[in-house]
Amino acid sequence: MPNTGSSSPEVPATPPVGLPLWLLAELTYRCPLQCPYCSNPLDFAAQGQELTTAQWFKVMAEAREMGAAQLGFSGGEPLVRQDLAELIGEARRLGYYTNLITSGIGLTEKRIAEFKTAGLDHIQISFQASDEQVNNLLAGSKKAFAQKLEMARAVKAHGYPMVLNFVTHRHNIDKIDRIIELCIALEADFVELATCQFYGWAHLNRLGLLPTREQLQRAERITNEYRERLKAAGSPCKLIFVTPDYYEERPKGCMNGWGSVFLTVTPDGTALPCHGARQLPVQFPNVREHDLKHIWYDSFGFNRFRGYDWMPEPCRSCDEKEKDFGGCRCQAFMLTGDASNADPVCAKSSHHGIILKAREEAEHAHLAIEELTFRNERNSRVIVRG
Ligand code: SF4
Ligand code: SF4
Repeated sequence: MPNTGSSSPEVPATPPVGLPLWLLAELTYRCPLQCPYCSNPLDFAAQGQELTTAQWFKVMAEAREMGAAQLGFSGGEPLVRQDLAELIGEARRLGYYTNLITSGIGLTEKRIAEFKTAGLDHIQISFQASDEQVNNLLAGSKKAFAQKLEMARAVKAHGYPMVLNFVTHRHNIDKIDRIIELCIALEADFVELATCQFYGWAHLNRLGLLPTREQLQRAERITNEYRERLKAAGSPCKLIFVTPDYYEERPKGCMNGWGSVFLTVTPDGTALPCHGARQLPVQFPNVREHDLKHIWYDSFGFNRFRGYDWMPEPCRSCDEKEKDFGGCRCQAFMLTGDASNADPVCAKSSHHGIILKAREEAEHAHLAIEELTFRNERNSRVIVRG
């Protein structure tokens, strides 16, 4: 899309294309766990071959040359890649700030030491719950909780700041006090209490995961109380509380705008403006066929929702569009069937009733954890077969 601006009086000029400052390398869709809220695509089991080490080196070099500064290694579970230390080493050589986003399964003291030597800057470990039984039930693994605890301690012992991530939902959010206590006991530096966002498997399981408004408000209140206490005690522990879009009246400024700063490369080399975009009926380029410069600046996929010219009403003439860019394209597509619609989270959207209905359903839902659809190869293949 040429960067020429717009002549329409209501539509602001198209902003210049930004730099891909943030590269997310989804190294693999393989994962030993089965979280029913995983944001990976439902059809992950049918995706193509993973990029090789050399192909990732090329992606990292090209992105760095274009201005990328932060590199996240994620998945699936990135630890299943045996070349992870090599990839980290190359990222360090190129000058990236690197972050490993992991479940901790497959991590050992030896690997942490290897990653440290290779130059890894940051490790984030995710937990499913504060309670061993619930954690393991959600993860689909009997050993997950004990391993996570051990590795969280080991990460700290190797001099990393401890960053813990808890995805909260209706089955664990009432234990938010215990979650925070666990984080304090582990001497966490940063804790992300992120209420499940409804993409991928979480969208499929929404009825069984979306908390009620009351659950959410209580959790936020307790988090704020702990924040006060931690502050008064001079603790360095920071609690970050993320509410789900479903209880907002305005959408988030998703990815800071389409193709603005984020670049995701999936295990098979598909380049996306955000990790959820694969499901959209948009042709996205692959790093096996094109260099990143072409992908970022010239490909159809990365230009499809850049700027404001693509917007229909009510976003087109809305004075908030420079703040939220019309919300999330994936959410608009999942909930309305048209990715160019306003995100239904917005109270101005004619589809906002879908969100109100979901809130209402959350009040009456009774699905047990065992009734959720777990993210695993078997379920993914069933979904692919239709
Ligand atoms: S959310 Fe769970 S299942 Fe999905 S990649 Fe992370 S650990 Fe694996
Ligand atoms: S109408 Fe569109 S631009 Fe305006 S607040 Fe809603 S989503 Fe944002």
